Amino acid sequence: MNAPLYQDRLFIGGAWVNPHGRDIVEVRSPADGTLLGRAVLGDAIDADRAVAAARQAFTSWSQSSIAERLDVLARMRAAFETLAPALEDHLMREIGLTRMVAQGQSMMCRAHFDSMAEILARYPFAQKMPGGFEIVREPIGVVVAITSWNAPVNQMLCKAVPAIAAGCTVIVKPSEHAPLCGGLLAEAMAQADLPPGLFNLVNGRGADCGQRLAAHPDVDMISITGSVAGGAAVAAAAAPTIKRVHQELGGKGANILLPEADFAAVVPRSVVACMMVAGQVCAAPTRLIVPADRFEDVAALAVAAAQGLVVGPPDDPATSFGPLMNAAQFDRVQGLIRQAIDGGQPLLTGGLGRPDNLPTGYYARPTIFGPVAPDAAIATQEVFGPVLCILTYRNVDEAVEIANATDFGLAAYVQSADPASARAVAARVRAGYVSINFPPWTAAAPFGGYRRSGNGRQYGVWGLEEFLETKTIIAS
Ligand code: NAD
Repeated sequence: MNAPLYQDRLFIGGAWVNPHGRDIVEVRSPADGTLLGRAVLGDAIDADRAVAAARQAFTSWSQSSIAERLDVLARMRAAFETLAPALEDHLMREIGLTRMVAQGQSMMCRAHFDSMAEILARYPFAQKMPGGFEIVREPIGVVVAITSWNAPVNQMLCKAVPAIAAGCTVIVKPSEHAPLCGGLLAEAMAQADLPPGLFNLVNGRGADCGQRLAAHPDVDMISITGSVAGGAAVAAAAAPTIKRVHQELGGKGANILLPEADFAAVVPRSVVACMMVAGQVCAAPTRLIVPADRFEDVAALAVAAAQGLVVGPPDDPATSFGPLMNAAQFDRVQGLIRQAIDGGQPLLTGGLGRPDNLPTGYYARPTIFGPVAPDAAIATQEVFGPVLCILTYRNVDEAVEIANATDFGLAAYVQSADPASARAVAARVRAGYVSINFPPWTAAAPFGGYRRSGNGRQYGVWGLEEFLETKTIIAS
């Protein structure tokens, strides 16, 4: 049993400072309600202090050499590594991640450091162009990284690492629903002997601290990961100062099963991919789009896979996925399941309430509806819970039409034994990230959304370039 944490300070200008904000949030385990700790949230005045520190640090950091940046990234990576096991344990408690998922988050963080170091060493920051001018890529300035709670450390680092590599200074504002992991990450960064003000972390609510950071005239760029509503509010607050806004928002991932796919192999994988982290993943393949004449086969395979998942405490090695994040998430997921049942969408397995063996905690049942009407709320809204919709198509044109009948456009999936037909379908799906037959993740490939899933890309060279301005130097 770990003693509750008490985070009463913010990391600003290379030091732990007492916040001006007086709002204290209590953080409880989503699995059993145990008190995990308390965090004092910063307010608009704390936001201003962080911006001032980052602005001051930008003057020298923007002029840093590639060697200095590589050295800083190496120190950050080493500091992260020291704390990674403790962070993984903590993510299991604060977010309800299983150990495998928490370790996967650390793996992704390491990959961001390694990928960015490799890119930085060869990136052409200055190029003589045909036509007699020069292009110089310069850091955009002070960057604010606003993150959600579902993969918090990965989100903070996948923004901070390329921003710092680009020569920017950073203020991270984690989700107020998971403030403790941000504080732990800042503890690691405090050990990295970074230039003061290069990396700042201010816990705070979106409505005050977040809004102030988004609107601040001395902030040059906001990168937000969150809901469509959060992304829109940040963009609106940022608009008067014409700052760059990078948005990583929600999704409703289509997963098209082409007729020649190996259904017995890919349907169970599709169910697991949809329901990992209790479905609280922006890129989750939540709409399984299958040939109408194969619906019964798919339904049987999917139900068997869902019923084979073990919902339980995050620290039990047998657990496939743990609880939903909090009461609001639980109520939202239950509300969408109820609406689907009341609206006549056929429930194949799962449904309302907790699994029978878990009377407390925010646990939800692995739930599958099908065949679902493409315009039903359960098929169009992001549930962010362990809920899969099976939709049917009569021909490939209709499959693509259903896949694209969404306001979102983040991740999409195609399953096929024929690379050419899978590639042809991938070309027609309106999404920023299309994966064929569940390939392994790579930090080199850009990730981001079309339409209401966002603007801009993270990871790889594209992720670095989000944080760069382009300067033309032309002489007579
Ligand atoms: P949210 O929008 O409620 O909050 C996200 C962050 O934005 C938090 O730090 C919050 O404080 C801040 N925020 C909210 N309103 C704000 C405002 N008015 N001004 C400034 N800041 C504000 O989202 P959430 O519930 O934390 O996260 C879940 C959502 O995130 C889901 O929609 C999910 O799909 C999405 N998400 C997207 C990605 C991606 O890479 N595209 C990754 C993970 C999660």
